[in-house]
Amino acid sequence: MFQFTFWSIPPLAAALLSLIALRRASDRKHIPGGQPLRFLFLALFLWAAPLAVETMLTDEGAKVIASKLAYLGIVLTPVAWFHFALTYSRGVLKPSLNISSLIALVPLLSLICAWTNEWHHLFWTDWYLIQNNEHVGLVMERGVWFTIHSLYSYGLIIAATAILIFSLTQFKLKKQAIAAAIGAPLIVVLTNIYSLSSYNPSPWLDFTTLGSFIAILILDRGILAEGLLNSIPVVRDRLVERLKDPVIVISNDGAIIDANQSAIQAWARGRTSILAQPISSVIERLPIEQVVDPAANSIVTIGKRAFEVAATPLNESEVSDIALLFRDVTLRLETERQLRQASLTLDRMAHTDALTDLFNRRYFIERLDEEFDRVSRHGSSMSVLIYDLDLFKRINDTYGHDAGDKVLKAIAQVTNQVKRSTDIACRLGGEEFALLLPETDKKGAIRLAQRLRKDIEAFPYNEYTGEALSVTASIGVATVAKSAQEAQTILKNADRALYKAKNGGRNMVCYDTD
Ligand code: GH3
Ligand code: MG
Ligand code: MG
Repeated sequence: MFQFTFWSIPPLAAALLSLIALRRASDRKHIPGGQPLRFLFLALFLWAAPLAVETMLTDEGAKVIASKLAYLGIVLTPVAWFHFALTYSRGVLKPSLNISSLIALVPLLSLICAWTNEWHHLFWTDWYLIQNNEHVGLVMERGVWFTIHSLYSYGLIIAATAILIFSLTQFKLKKQAIAAAIGAPLIVVLTNIYSLSSYNPSPWLDFTTLGSFIAILILDRGILAEGLLNSIPVVRDRLVERLKDPVIVISNDGAIIDANQSAIQAWARGRTSILAQPISSVIERLPIEQVVDPAANSIVTIGKRAFEVAATPLNESEVSDIALLFRDVTLRLETERQLRQASLTLDRMAHTDALTDLFNRRYFIERLDEEFDRVSRHGSSMSVLIYDLDLFKRINDTYGHDAGDKVLKAIAQVTNQVKRSTDIACRLGGEEFALLLPETDKKGAIRLAQRLRKDIEAFPYNEYTGEALSVTASIGVATVAKSAQEAQTILKNADRALYKAKNGGRNMVCYDTD
């Protein structure tokens, strides 16, 4: 009825080990890859345990039942491995539909086929017992569906392993982990091929359980013990991947080694086309040393948006990888720009005369005080011109107020043409204007006033008013006198000179000495 030989040890050990690994993986079931890894170890247990029982039985019927039971684990193992690879690669490969359940279809058919073999003999064509020394073994002759099942399982394992290797190489993981991901399925496949091949000296012997025993050891050491499931992919999946802000990680040689979904979208490129690229290929205009400086908080533009970069070294060493978090500050910068613009406009409005765009009286007085202080300190010269249009009321009365306004604008234009860039021109009010001439003595001021007077007289006002009309101005000139105690004195002097010009017959320049 029962036997216990050396051949029971591999499946027993595999069953026991998969139970232990299942427990260890249970601690990690809440992280990506943890749940499918548990599923994998469970499948391996469901495979190894019935096979262990089978090796300990001698009755043919009982052996067949145990073998059939093992098929639950056998068909589930490749599915579990595929599921593990797919879950673990999340973010790298995104299956559009539930592939895991779709791929389980053929294994389900295989299981049904094995369990109902007596009716069709598609899975096994025959089975019989053979005695080898003390061990009674069960030999099962393989049918058509067995071949389909085997090929499908190999295909699934190869595909899953390829996906896993591809996604593992996307992250900076220890080579040991990648070796485990390749080694474990490889050893199962190789021992299985050997068991099924004609090289197997005793066809009742299945070395696959020995292979899966070693595979579990490899997975346990390489993936669970190495903390593979706790490393980058988990952190990124949990935290970084879901961040709305783009995040990229660069190695110390400036190559991008990770990028979250927002970063991909920001640069509108596929993940693989960003990964392994130099950081300079995505941030072009700023020196990289500045971007990675944790203290810099540089602003970079990606497309039409502006991002503030916060750089964080991932460890203490000098050659550490650096995480770059990009915070979208487009709105903030735009608001700041508008505020600055508004403040500039307000500033300008506070200083400017709306009709002529010259400075207004307030600004003129401010600048006059400043220039006066400067002259008092350094003893240089400064002059002021005040000019008033002659009989302007008549122009308004004859041509209308609008024409009068246009003439006032024309006077501003003439003033701007005559004055030097350092001179300050303003409309004091009505049809009265002033020019502040820094570093200008009496002679220079009178010369400029005469030119201004002539240009005002000669200006073709018809360009502005549509009609030729004669406009003249009377100009009063004053220069800072040594006796002048305050800035206002020079204005009064210029005003007095203007009065003289009006009384003297208009369209003339007068100078006031005191
Ligand atoms: P005077 O040669 O003595 O300076 O004679 P005037 O007519 O220029 O002097 P008055 O001060 O009597 O008249 C100034 C006129 O300037 C009165 C007003 O209608 C006109 N004026 C003042 N401000 C404006 C303005 O902004 N636009 C227009 N079109 N006219 C203005
Ligand atoms: Mg006037
Ligand atoms: Mg006036």
